[in-house]
Amino acid sequence: MSRLTVLAGPTAVGKGTVSAHIREAHPEVWFSVSATTRPPRPGEIDGVHYRFLDDEQFDRMITGGELLEHAVVHGRNRYGTPRRPVEEQIAGGGSPLLEIDLQGARQVREAMPDALFVFLAPPSWDELVNRLIGRGTESTEEQERRLATARTELAAEPEFDVTIVNHDVRSAAEELVDLMGISRSG
Ligand code: 5GP
Repeated sequence: MSRLTVLAGPTAVGKGTVSAHIREAHPEVWFSVSATTRPPRPGEIDGVHYRFLDDEQFDRMITGGELLEHAVVHGRNRYGTPRRPVEEQIAGGGSPLLEIDLQGARQVREAMPDALFVFLAPPSWDELVNRLIGRGTESTEEQERRLATARTELAAEPEFDVTIVNHDVRSAAEELVDLMGISRSG
């Protein structure tokens, strides 16, 4: 069965790392490429990691109805899921995966209630803080902003169909792929 899977969870829980593992070990999984107004980080490629847009281009996608969901994340930049590629995947029998924030996940649930909603949880709050500080890519101010977001995001776990605890990246990734039913169908 072709089904959309949405992976969400608090900031710095390791969604990106789990996704990276799946990209490498399971090339059969199709990932949505989000649009964002955030500037690229070193090494990020337009059209691969994100579609990097300015505010005007992002606005045009919204008014054109081209986004399945969109949200301001961490009170700063806008992120959104281009609708058409996801719909094409589902129509073609694929099983697309979205890695998005909680606000976006809620919008997708309104639009596509049959999707599978997976919450990636940290082993503990302290572990989440360690991961956020340890990543070292954000300023102190940005880290505080993201921790505040993470606190409210953790409380949303009961809204999801399934929780995967990210004790270990590989196990979490395999658990997700198993849930998607992809490894069995090839
Ligand atoms: P980053 O800037 O670190 O790449 O991503 C920041 C946050 O934006 C992550 O929590 C990520 O899940 C979320 N995000 C990425 N793409 C989308 C999207 O298309 N829609 C929404 N709502 N959130 C997204």
